[in-house]
Amino acid sequence: MLRLSNIRKDYITSSETVHALKGVSISFRKSEFVSILGPSGCGKTTLLNIIGGLDQYTDGDLVIGGRSTKSYTDRDWDVYRNHRVGFIFQSYNLIPHQTVLGNVELALTIAGISREERIERAKRALDRVGLSGQYYKKPNQLSGGQCQRVAIARALVNDPEILLADEPTGALDTVTSVQIMDLIKEISNERLVIMVTHNPELAEKYSSRIVRLLDGEIIEDTNPFAAEDEIAECEAIEKAAREEEERVLAEAADDGERRKIERERRKKKERAKMSFFTAFRLSWRNLLSKLGRTSMVAFAGSIGIIGIALVLAFSSGIKGYIASMQDDMLSGNPIKITETAYDLDAFSGMIDTEMQVDITKLADRVYVNSLIEYLVKTNKNVEDIVVSNELTADYIDYLKSMPNEYYADMLMSYGIDINPNLFTDVMTDEGNMTISVKRITDMYTSILGETEYNRLAYMIPMLAPSISQAPTNTEYLLSQYDLLGEGSRIATERGEIMLVVDSDDELSDLLLARYGYYSQAEFLELINKANADGEFESDIYKNNFTYDELLGKEFTYYPTNDIFKEGNATLFNQSGYTYLSDAEDIEAEGIKLTVVGILSPKENISYGCMRSGIYYTEALTEYILEENTNATEGILNYLADDENASKLSTNIPTMDMTFYGLMYSYSYIYDEDGDPDTKNEKTGFGVVSYASSTSDMMQSMTGTGQSLSNTDQRDRFLRSFGANGNVNSVTIYPKSFDDMYLVTDYLDRWNEDGELTVDDKSYAERNSVTYTNTLEIVISLVNTMIDVVSYALIAFTSISLVVSTVMIGIITYVSVVERIKEIGVIRALGGRKRDVSYLFNAETFIIGAVAGLIGIGVTYLISFIANLILTPLINYSGIAALTITDAVGLVILSIVLTLISGLIPARSAANKDPVVALRTE
Ligand code: ADP
Ligand code: MG
Repeated sequence: MLRLSNIRKDYITSSETVHALKGVSISFRKSEFVSILGPSGCGKTTLLNIIGGLDQYTDGDLVIGGRSTKSYTDRDWDVYRNHRVGFIFQSYNLIPHQTVLGNVELALTIAGISREERIERAKRALDRVGLSGQYYKKPNQLSGGQCQRVAIARALVNDPEILLADEPTGALDTVTSVQIMDLIKEISNERLVIMVTHNPELAEKYSSRIVRLLDGEIIEDTNPFAAEDEIAECEAIEKAAREEEERVLAEAADDGERRKIERERRKKKERAKMSFFTAFRLSWRNLLSKLGRTSMVAFAGSIGIIGIALVLAFSSGIKGYIASMQDDMLSGNPIKITETAYDLDAFSGMIDTEMQVDITKLADRVYVNSLIEYLVKTNKNVEDIVVSNELTADYIDYLKSMPNEYYADMLMSYGIDINPNLFTDVMTDEGNMTISVKRITDMYTSILGETEYNRLAYMIPMLAPSISQAPTNTEYLLSQYDLLGEGSRIATERGEIMLVVDSDDELSDLLLARYGYYSQAEFLELINKANADGEFESDIYKNNFTYDELLGKEFTYYPTNDIFKEGNATLFNQSGYTYLSDAEDIEAEGIKLTVVGILSPKENISYGCMRSGIYYTEALTEYILEENTNATEGILNYLADDENASKLSTNIPTMDMTFYGLMYSYSYIYDEDGDPDTKNEKTGFGVVSYASSTSDMMQSMTGTGQSLSNTDQRDRFLRSFGANGNVNSVTIYPKSFDDMYLVTDYLDRWNEDGELTVDDKSYAERNSVTYTNTLEIVISLVNTMIDVVSYALIAFTSISLVVSTVMIGIITYVSVVERIKEIGVIRALGGRKRDVSYLFNAETFIIGAVAGLIGIGVTYLISFIANLILTPLINYSGIAALTITDAVGLVILSIVLTLISGLIPARSAANKDPVVALRTE
């Protein structure tokens, strides 16, 4: 069964070589109770450890079941220890943080046996040694005798063939010793027991064979077992085993079942492996037993994770915030293609303008910093960055061919100003009149000119919002605007217009005044109110309108040829045409326009596609173009002739003034001193010109417009009345920020070289057209900045991660030192080196995971609080938003880092010599 043949064991220490065993040859029976006696240091423990496969012999051979162990691998030894040998030690070697049951289970755990079976077998083993009912006690709650019983149960639980006991009663009192010896004696009935003792009385009383050892040699054997006998015994055992295997195979129903049996047999032989999950459970217990330290380590490890997680949370939150505003901002910052645009690539060149050429400066001189040079260079650059776009019919056609799904709306603007053509009712001091919006504006300008605020008067036409065309996509508008007032709706028909209020549901007083909502008296009261310090009481002062007051107001649009009446040319009016500002004078029928809707930007919309103002429909634009383009009569036909282009240019030498357009006069009544009886009728003068848009206004004020030729000015005049039908700007509202790139890609294609064909139409002649996309520039700039800042912050916080990693490595090392006994026990029970390293890797894994989870948890908590505080301030509810991916990534990062930090300590633990580990006190 078990035979030692000339076993030698030398311990080589730094100073000398100790010959602990000097050629021991002995054989053992399948079942007997052998006591090994001898003085301290004679090699008893060494012999036992070699028999148990814990220690390796230097020379000779150990034959187990007829097979030499010379060729045994580490794996074979592990299986041998786990399945065929049970150890009992003088100092019990129980694992303190495991229960009694857990300690006994350990050998089965290492063998990879299922949980239910483990518990059942462990309980049976404990019952057998008389410890039923003590399963869940911890070793430190037991007496020495009880501890040794647990150790015996642990040794027996795997049903080993050999029980090795190293002075099992060495630490026990006499009475307990006897009980333990009785137990061992009983066990020896069914298996081989080899017990080391230095108590000859016990040996003689209980054992069936006594072997005496002295200085590493056997000097006496009371009941030797001959080699021949052993061989015979081995053969008998093997024969019985073979017969049993064959019998089972023969009973198998078919080949499939046979193969299954064989597979299971192989598996059984390979057993003695602990799953990583088991390692987890064991480590988890260990960590729980040191809860304070574990949680502190995990918390320390989590600090770095918290730092990085917070940076990521805020950076993704802020990006999310920007992304959420992107679509919103997009409607307020659409892509624009205008006749003049700014080339932003050239713009960056402009910033680099070199001011001073490098010159060698002489001492004691003051040098000139040439501002002139700067201005000249800057001016040159300004010319470079302002590009003029030719919006040809082909280009407009190309734009119209853009796939509809790219954009929500595309607005073609013809530069039309309908204020001279638009008439409405207004209550003046002369009574109720139906006059043009142009005249109302001029009249209020005149009235303001009469007050002490006359220097502000000219600003009225500039500041007052003007009527323009609304985007046509009703759905798009409804996605951004709520409708106010009963029956309020989006204007879609030619005869419908709508008001758009700002996000505070307000409209400007100038807009309301200009479009006839304020009477003259009410308008003046607005000025009085503004002028009054503090309290102001007035019945006339009006600072709000009901929806009903705003809705339903009517306007009339008259085509251009109807509002200019032919007449005789004069010195100041060479064309002879006069502008009719009062509807009474107009003979033709106009078309009625009614305010049908009030639109208010939705709560979450900060940049709607329409600013606060008044809007008409595309249908009206089409009507205007139809009525006014290529007219064959009236002022439009007259002006179309280049000969007459100069007839609208008027020079008034006495006033040193030149303007292009038609001067007209109007009467108004102004009460200068507040006394109703002394109202004076006055006459005002206005000019119907093309200078209607703010930019035109600026040009005329700065004088740049003066340089235009008469035909150019005539063209502008015609255009502002919709008479030439050319598009002068295009506004494209992409569906979303992501779709914006579809639009810009499409626009870029126009500027690329090579052929361009869309919808079977090819565009051969193309001039480059520059579009303006302000939003993209701003957003990408901001995102890059957030990234840069985030990376910098992460780099800083990573330092704390490195520190915590090193710290966890040290803690793991301390843990290895603390658990060295446990390592020895696990190895003695047949645990592989890998099982031991699993154990420590599992420990660091758990610490890493807990640290990561704490980090993520704390980050979510901080994020929650930050959002709670910040939401009302910025009206966005996720400024700190750690994404799930980032969270999972950080937990993994934490685990990986701690695993790495624990690798070296875990490996050192795995490589601990089990003998040394067990001898360590
Ligand atoms: P016993 O158990 O009979 O008291 P041991 O088997 O423990 O004796 O020791 C036998 C001899 O081997 C002793 O002289 C001891 O000092 C020596 N020895 C045991 N282990 C080692 C070791 N790891 N390194 C060096 N010498 C050792
Ligand atoms: Mg000893």
